[in-house]
Amino acid sequence: MPPSQPEFRLFNTMTRSVEPFAPTDGDTVRIYSCGPTVYNPAHLGNFRTFLFADLMRRALRLRGWKVRQVMNLTDVDDKIIRRAQEQGKTIREVTEPVTKVFHEDRAYLRIEPAEVYPKATDYIPQMIVLVERLIARGVAYQAEDNSVYFAIDRFPGYGRLSRLDTREVRSGARVAQDDYSKENAQDFALWKSAKPEDEASGAAWDSPWGRGRPGWHLECSAMAIDLLGETLDIHCGGIDLIFPHHEDEIAQSEAATGATFSRFWCHGAFLLTDGSKMAKRLGNVTTVQGMREAQISAAAVRHFVFNTHYRKELNLSEEALEASMNAVRRVGDFADRLATATGGTTELAVAADSAVAEVEAALFDDLNAPNALAGLFTFITRANAELDKRGSDTESLERARAAFARINGVLDIVPERQIDDPELAAWVEERLAGRRAARERRDFGEADRIRAELAERGITIEDTSAGTKWKRSR
Ligand code: AMP
Ligand code: ZN
Repeated sequence: MPPSQPEFRLFNTMTRSVEPFAPTDGDTVRIYSCGPTVYNPAHLGNFRTFLFADLMRRALRLRGWKVRQVMNLTDVDDKIIRRAQEQGKTIREVTEPVTKVFHEDRAYLRIEPAEVYPKATDYIPQMIVLVERLIARGVAYQAEDNSVYFAIDRFPGYGRLSRLDTREVRSGARVAQDDYSKENAQDFALWKSAKPEDEASGAAWDSPWGRGRPGWHLECSAMAIDLLGETLDIHCGGIDLIFPHHEDEIAQSEAATGATFSRFWCHGAFLLTDGSKMAKRLGNVTTVQGMREAQISAAAVRHFVFNTHYRKELNLSEEALEASMNAVRRVGDFADRLATATGGTTELAVAADSAVAEVEAALFDDLNAPNALAGLFTFITRANAELDKRGSDTESLERARAAFARINGVLDIVPERQIDDPELAAWVEERLAGRRAARERRDFGEADRIRAELAERGITIEDTSAGTKWKRSR
């Protein structure tokens, strides 16, 4: 690392402290992020965690490193099999459409794609090899129910990440379900012997221990080691994954390889609704589709999420979303102004340089996005005042544009072009009403003609279940 480069610091759950971070090879950061279980469209809580990973990868790149991120798609687990059984489908028939929605939602929120999205069902052979290694090392055993379990008392580090009190460790007792509480820390299933519903839904494979399927935790160890090597730079996910998921991942991986599984463990805090965790099983979820229908732009959602530090809980509220919509409108106006300005002042360049310094310092200090946003808004205020002076210095204007692009390259909060021309808006609304009426009387020729007329004026429209949305194309 060149000495002039600033330090990058991250909170490491393993040590419960903020530590200096750099990739092992000085060049590429290898990140493994636990991805969605694809049995239901991911909710905004899940996406808060995925936005945290997006912020992480963009901030690391801003610092000058490359990123190789792997995010798994859990396409076989208890919940998916139950869903398949309820619907008389195979697990694949359940997971494929949900995976498609995941990527659409991800793209809507401008979350950069990970480099690899491995599916658990594509890594069954690697998982079997891992279980064989664990059995060979004497830390796993096949029980009377034919399932293979990890013996937690044979792995001295068990409980280190979640600071599990050793008295709670109930070795010998076994748990087969994928998710369980700390009170039930016991030998967990690596490989589960097949039940009739597993066979019926296509969730059973041949193995040295008979037909069966992997336990949830196993996939992440197998895929991370296969795609990123035995020691990751960063492993991240939501805070609820610390136990048992990440604890079990560490046990499986380190008992098999003897190497430290991940140098950094990073966890994002929950998104709440009315004070409780947003969760599918609680039925209090908001989806990305819901955001789109309410015409809440990706920029506003990103602003809303980034305006609270990732390690603090965040409550979803209409007021907060509205404030974010107003905030990003200001960012969009500023982007337009920068694009159309013809010159700046010396002070504009000074403001640009200090904004970049402030935002970078914030992001490199444990991804402090709220401080980065504050730095951006200070810049907008200062730059607007300078642009009011209608200077003619093109170099300072370029500096301001570059600074804004650099900052927004991480936050990505410029909304789609706003319609700020009331006359045009009225004209569009009139056409849309005509089109609605034409469609109601099934005069699709006329409806298409109106769409074309709008397109001629640079207006694109999108029909959603909440009505027709329109925007001026850039
Ligand atoms: P799942 O699809 O349930 O496996 O969860 C995918 C990711 O979303 C995991 O990293 C979870 O920790 C995370 N997650 C689940 N619920 C929330 C929530 N309410 N707020 C933030 N992250 C969450
Ligand atoms: Zn995982």
